[in-house]
Amino acid sequence: MSDSTQAVKENQLVDRFGRTINYVRLSVTDRCDLRCVYCMPENMTFVPRAQLLTLEEMETVGRSFIALGVDKIRITGGEPLVRKNILQLFNNLGAIDELKDLTLTTNGTQLKKYAKQLKAAGVTRINISLDTLRADRFHEMTRVGELKRTLDGIDAAIACDFGQIKLNSVVLKNYNHDEILDLVKFVIDRGIDISFIEEMPLGENTHHDRAKTYYSSDEILEDLRQHYEILPSTMRTAGPTRYFQLGEHENTRIGFISPHSHNFCESCNRVRVTAEGRLLLCLGQEHSVDLRHVIRANPGDRTALDQAIIKSMEIKPKGHDFNLNSQTILLRHMNMTGG
Ligand code: SAM
Ligand code: SF4
Repeated sequence: MSDSTQAVKENQLVDRFGRTINYVRLSVTDRCDLRCVYCMPENMTFVPRAQLLTLEEMETVGRSFIALGVDKIRITGGEPLVRKNILQLFNNLGAIDELKDLTLTTNGTQLKKYAKQLKAAGVTRINISLDTLRADRFHEMTRVGELKRTLDGIDAAIACDFGQIKLNSVVLKNYNHDEILDLVKFVIDRGIDISFIEEMPLGENTHHDRAKTYYSSDEILEDLRQHYEILPSTMRTAGPTRYFQLGEHENTRIGFISPHSHNFCESCNRVRVTAEGRLLLCLGQEHSVDLRHVIRANPGDRTALDQAIIKSMEIKPKGHDFNLNSQTILLRHMNMTGG
C-alpha cells in the first residue's frame, strides 16, 4: 500500500458521538420482483432509471468509502439481483483487498441463477428474506411471489458454501407469527441462521395497522423458550442483530433485529446509500447528502466525493425515534431506503 493510501486509510469516519463508521449498505435499485406488504405498496412508483446511479458510479462510491476505512459493504435494494449487469459491481468490489466483507441481502428469487457467480465474485455472506414456509401465505405476504423460487434459491446458496447464510423474517402478528417454530426447524435442518425482525414504520402502510400486527422480539423469544434452551451467543456481526444459540444446535444462530423493543442506535456503525446516490446517515431519519450531485459535478475526481462523505459525519443523528403509534412516519419505504 502506498504512503498516500495509508494516510487516507487512517482517516477513519467518526461521527459526533464517537461512533466509527465502517459499514455501508449500498442500495443498487429500488425495483423488485416482489411487493412485500410491510415494504412497499402494491402499485409502487419507482425512480426513473436516469436518476439512478450507474453501476460505475456505485463502484466509485464504494471505493471512496473503502478508502475512508469502511471494510464491509452490503449490497441491497429493492431486489439487487434484478438490476441489469449487477455482477459487474460484485466482481469489481469483490476484487478490492481492503474490503473484508462483501455481503448481499436478497429475496432469493434469482439465486438459482446467480449463487455460483456471486461466490466467485467474492461475496462472503448472504441474507435471504423468507417470512413463511406456506405457499399461499408467501403469495399473500409478497402479493405476487412463488415460494418455490425462493426455496430453490436458498438451496442454491447453501450448495455454494458461503461463510454465512441467514434468513431474515419480518414477523407480523396474525400473518406469520405462528410459524416461528417451523422457520426455526427449517434453519436448524439446514445448519443456517435466522433473524426475526420487528416491522419498522417506513413509508405509509395502508395494508395493515402496524400497531396491531406488532409482534415483539421478546414474544418470539418466549415462544422459543417453550421448546428450546436459549443460550446467549458470542457471535457478533457488524449489524444490529442480537444473537442467541438454541441448546445443542450449534450450527444455527437465532438473531433479533428489534428497532422498537431494543434500540440499537448507540452502537451504530453504518450508513446507507440509496440507488439515487443519497447518503442516508440514519435508517429512521432524513439527514442525507446528495452524493450523485457531488459525483456528477466533479467527473473523474474522487476528492470531492471523499470530502463530502467525511463532512457527512457532522450530521449523522444520534438515533431513530420509531414509534408504532405515531402519526408522523417517514415517507420513504424500505425498498427506497436499502434495508
Ligand atoms: N429485496 C431484498 C430482500 O427482501 O431481502 C433486499 C431489500 S429488503 C428492503 C431488505 C430487508 O428489509 C428484508 O429482509 C425485508 O424483509 C426487510 N424489510 C422490508 N420492509 C421492512 C419494514 N418495514 N420493517 C422491517 N424490515 C423490513
Ligand atoms: Fe422486494 Fe425485499 Fe421489499 Fe420484499 S422486502 S418487496 S423482496 S425489496
